[in-house]
Amino acid sequence: MSQTLQAIRGMNDILPDDAELWEEFEDLVRQWLRAYGYRPIRMPIVEPTPLFSRAIGEVTDIVEKEMYSFEDRLNGEHLTLRPEGTASCVRAVLQHNLLYDGPKRLWYMGPMFRHERPQKGRYRQFHQVGVEALGYEGPDVDAEQILMGARLWHDLGLRDIRLELNCLGQAEERARHRSDLIAYLSGHADRLDDDARRRLHTNPLRILDTKNPAMQEMVEGAPKLLDYLGGESLAHFEGVQRILRDAGIGFSINPRLVRGLDYYNLTVFEWVTDRLGAQGTVCAGGRYDGLVVQLGGKPQPACGFAMGVERLLALWSDQGNRLERPVPDVYLVNQGEAAARHAFRVAEHLRDIGLAVQHHCGGGSFKSQMKRADASGAALAIIIGDDEAAAGEATLKPLRESAEQRRVAFDELADAVGAWLYGDDDDGGV
Ligand code: ATP
Ligand code: MG
Repeated sequence: MSQTLQAIRGMNDILPDDAELWEEFEDLVRQWLRAYGYRPIRMPIVEPTPLFSRAIGEVTDIVEKEMYSFEDRLNGEHLTLRPEGTASCVRAVLQHNLLYDGPKRLWYMGPMFRHERPQKGRYRQFHQVGVEALGYEGPDVDAEQILMGARLWHDLGLRDIRLELNCLGQAEERARHRSDLIAYLSGHADRLDDDARRRLHTNPLRILDTKNPAMQEMVEGAPKLLDYLGGESLAHFEGVQRILRDAGIGFSINPRLVRGLDYYNLTVFEWVTDRLGAQGTVCAGGRYDGLVVQLGGKPQPACGFAMGVERLLALWSDQGNRLERPVPDVYLVNQGEAAARHAFRVAEHLRDIGLAVQHHCGGGSFKSQMKRADASGAALAIIIGDDEAAAGEATLKPLRESAEQRRVAFDELADAVGAWLYGDDDDGGV
């Protein structure tokens, strides 16, 4: 016998019990986004590779080692499974000239792909909700995006998610900081790991963000970008903080929170929890005023964030959120050829009035069908056998309480079932 095939490591099946929780989450997310005036956009999952090398930057974990890239077998084009959504979203906005009549608030949700070492909270196919505001200079929109996070955690009942904030200033400010940073890091060359040594001259800011415990103490002492910011950047940063304080949102300033790419600027933020072990960032975002130009558009300010759906759902279930398995209103038992034909009409008729009907398919004895009906969790079984079929009737049998069963003509079935389920019937029962 051949071995059964398995999913790719780090790419998960989301089975029905979980998938229903996902749907519940997605419904809440849609309502939440609508409340802030964000509109949906859907982009392809595969994009030309240069989109990501240009948008994310050559010297990043993602582009250096995490992308699933391949050649199109017909024309040799270099393609990549999207590792994130911002690049595609901005590409789509430029391609369709969406900003022609003013700024836009957009969001998307879907799978992203990164070739990482799979572990709890870190997968090779994972899902993000991405939120992008294009054409807004802020700091009001930056702060609004942070308030959005706070509201969603509240709506989901999530506790223990804290906000970290930083300001990356502008390119000139970062350039001055960068030379001091390189000098400092070079002075501690013996403490740098391989990644850091490689990035020392290409992307030193990103070294501050290292997860290597052996480097923590050394990077703590590095020159802080905040000390290099001029008046305008500081005013923007102060503007964001003022709105957060007015809204009663707590935060801490983390000078090591960085993005490390030239077109990321000003506000950066992360929502972090200690409840998920090492993979504690559930949402990350900030301003990327330089990206539109980087992708060939006319300058437009932009700000956005992405949430990791798996991490948020892990937190959501850890904090006691379990869904009841949804049950049908009615389980439809049927036996015999004539009954089976009536059953289809009855089932569709009941669905017409909005009921969820589980129609027994595949035959079997009444006894075995009744067992299934019971296991389905339905409140009511409708039974159609030869007798009922001949009389133009069905039997209604309550499954969860001791009320008597009774026969009802097909014509009156919808009324009787509706009345029984919703309790507005005159004689108070089946
Ligand atoms: P990390 O430092 O954890 O690798 P990142 O900086 O690569 O994170 P972003 O690109 O900012 O992450 O993505 C935004 C969010 O998407 C993260 O905060 C996280 O919640 C989620 N995320 C990123 N990579 C993964 C992954 N491989 N598996 C699951 N969730 C992920
Ligand atoms: Mg990463």
